[in-house]
Amino acid sequence: MSALPESSREWHLVARPHGWPKPEDVALREVPVAAPGEGHLLVRNLHFSVDPYMRGRMNDVKSYVPPFQLDKPMDGGAVGEVIASEAEGFEVGDHVLHGLGWREYADVPAKHATKVDASLAPLSAYLGVLGMTGLTAYAGLFEVASFKEGDAVFVSGAAGAVGSQVGQMARIKGASRVIGSAGSDEKVKLLVEEYGFDTAFNYKNGSVHEQLKAAAPDGIDVYFDNVGGDHLEAAISSFNVHGRATICGMIAVYNDTEPAPGPRNMAMVIGKRLRLQGVLVSDHAALQPQFVQDVAGWLRSGELKYDETVVEGIENGFDAFLGLLRGENTGKMIVSLTR
Ligand code: NAP
Repeated sequence: MSALPESSREWHLVARPHGWPKPEDVALREVPVAAPGEGHLLVRNLHFSVDPYMRGRMNDVKSYVPPFQLDKPMDGGAVGEVIASEAEGFEVGDHVLHGLGWREYADVPAKHATKVDASLAPLSAYLGVLGMTGLTAYAGLFEVASFKEGDAVFVSGAAGAVGSQVGQMARIKGASRVIGSAGSDEKVKLLVEEYGFDTAFNYKNGSVHEQLKAAAPDGIDVYFDNVGGDHLEAAISSFNVHGRATICGMIAVYNDTEPAPGPRNMAMVIGKRLRLQGVLVSDHAALQPQFVQDVAGWLRSGELKYDETVVEGIENGFDAFLGLLRGENTGKMIVSLTR
């Protein structure tokens, strides 16, 4: 076995943010690296994921994932190379997907590692299009929203990791119209010209309500909500009878310090017989084989496209996370440690 590294840098949460996270809320710390114990792997992380849900984990509140602990490394999706193994079935040089991101080297229990094949897809794709965000799009559209051919679909956060896949999946499966909203004119152009949305608008250019009405003159049947706030209210107004909303995320309110007001038009849910249903990707693991088969096929045929915004260097990890919350990413935001 070649010599193991002596130390690893990792991002710790050191204070709970109030509103937008600040540089003082986190610290990049150097810690010693030990050889892995029985049943463990030492993994050199090559890419790790920064995701909007991590903002919620910075708060000390009970939720579907436990909060980050103060003065401990933050965690989340990562892919890396095994550099030492004390676990049967894993060899040095294997690539694995696991949950101990935000650090250069990870001591991973082998039972929490999944081998991935770097010859089938770039390793970072296992964090996005072939990973958690891709499955969220697939499960949220097909299972939760009960999408069917001919539906008119509106997706917010449409140039992001989840949203970009939702819109394209709907198009591939025969949506009558796919409408997206995003936060810049460049993103809007990308949605139409690259991802094949029928139309899209920049929510910063005017009222979401008015822009959605103009984009969907015949109404919408499915709304995939990544944003909440004015987007959800506008979707409720534009819904046709028996519309279905997948409530996936509400990024517009993640840094709010006061509870945001709800949609003012909830009474429409009755007359239109709407269904608003939350999705948690972790509930849909059973879809994984079908998801991988479909998405791999669509990627091979060129029907499905994806983008990544890659930030290089562990020292830039926290800025990458803030950039994600500010909309600096197109497609999946990835932190790469390959240089
Ligand atoms: P993403 O869309 O790749 O990145 C976040 C995007 O949100 C930014 O690029 C930004 O794009 C947009 N944004 C930020 N503030 C906004 C605001 N005030 N109003 C409208 N848009 C805003 O992130 P993702 O990983 O794909 O996640 C998308 C959503 O799905 C998030 O809400 C996340 O929490 C949720 N999610 C849920 C699950 C689940 O299991 N329920 C799993 C994965 C993700 P613009 O430039 O367009 O503003």
